[in-house]
Amino acid sequence: MSKRTYGKEFGFHTRAVHTGNDVDTGTGAIKRPIVMTNSYELPYDPSDLNWSGSDKNLYTRNGGSNQQYLQEKIAALSGGEDCVVLGSGVAALSGLFFSLLKSGDHVVFSSVTYIAVYRLLNEIFNNKFNVETTIVDTSDLEAVRKAVRPNTRLVHIETPGNPTITVSDIRAIAAIAHKNGALLSVDNTFASPYNQRPLELGADFAVESLTKYINGHGDSMGGAIIGKKEHLDIIRAQAQVNLGGVISPFNAWLIMRGSVTLPLRMRQHNENAQKVAEYLESLPCVRFVAYPGLKSHRGHAIAAAQMSPGYGGVLSFGLKADHDTHNRFVSHLRVITSAVSLGHDESLIVFLGEKDERQYLYPPEFHDGFFRFSVGIEDAEDIIGDLERALRKTGLV
Ligand SMILES: *Cc1c(COP(=O)(O)O)cnc(C)c1O
Repeated sequence: MSKRTYGKEFGFHTRAVHTGNDVDTGTGAIKRPIVMTNSYELPYDPSDLNWSGSDKNLYTRNGGSNQQYLQEKIAALSGGEDCVVLGSGVAALSGLFFSLLKSGDHVVFSSVTYIAVYRLLNEIFNNKFNVETTIVDTSDLEAVRKAVRPNTRLVHIETPGNPTITVSDIRAIAAIAHKNGALLSVDNTFASPYNQRPLELGADFAVESLTKYINGHGDSMGGAIIGKKEHLDIIRAQAQVNLGGVISPFNAWLIMRGSVTLPLRMRQHNENAQKVAEYLESLPCVRFVAYPGLKSHRGHAIAAAQMSPGYGGVLSFGLKADHDTHNRFVSHLRVITSAVSLGHDESLIVFLGEKDERQYLYPPEFHDGFFRFSVGIEDAEDIIGDLERALRKTGLV
């Protein structure tokens, strides 16, 4: 723990700058160093140590300094009691499922989720470990209510969801889960803790892919689970120490550094994405735009109630054009890069064709090819200018 822990009496920006950092006692440096070690010196008599414990620095897979500093900060930004940081967002998700679920349990999860969630729950946990799964459109509360059973251990949602930007009501779903003795986990990656804090809305776990907004610079991977210590101690022991999903000290340090500017970057992402969404919506050649900040978005009212101050930087849209024209449009972009991932400083676009096996779970406008667009922190005029130029070159405007 740092001497300076920053709790709720400090604002989000102050916590983003200070929490988890402290003066390094060895050198006097005002930034804590990267501790690239895998082992820590043992006490005089180590025979009583718990070799699977995480309470003392012992071995980096059990927990290391840079990981701990980052955990303090992510917990503080998320309004959580405790946090476990692992090697990727998927390590956090699989670690949560692995630690919480056992054979015979039932899980309800969103029809719109990161692809690995679908693979993990609907294929691996279901087929190999006899965990029952029900996939529902969690933007429909009645459907969630109907899906929950006496053996439901976990409800897992993602809001806004990848890639359809579907919004689910965290508070209402937490109430449904808890009434039935189940826990609620929320993948908060698209919003980031700056715009949405699921734990404050009643969720038991928030999951973040740190790879995205929290690191924010597209140069490292990590994942976090935030929640109560009693749950996270189990996840730490099972998913980190024994499954081995640990983060490298260097990546934890990079994410710590990136996260200092999270609130500044998110402000610009929110503002740019709103402008880009409104621009796209005004074009006759655009088939649809999905962004929670648009009044036309199905989930706008719920998003406005649970997200603040903004709606994040990710939107999806489709063109009134065939498959190849979508690809030609991308080939003309100069500012915006064609690549997966999201939440980077730079704008990233990915064409999701018609071949997604989960399409039957998506709203109809997503059945043809569409783009997932992570709007970056460049000048909004340059992003819009790039879209306009590419549309012109493709012959769409
Ligand atoms: C990227 C992403 C993940 C997975 O994170 P990795 O760090 O790539 O493992 C999980 N959930 C959402 C919503 C994501 O966008």
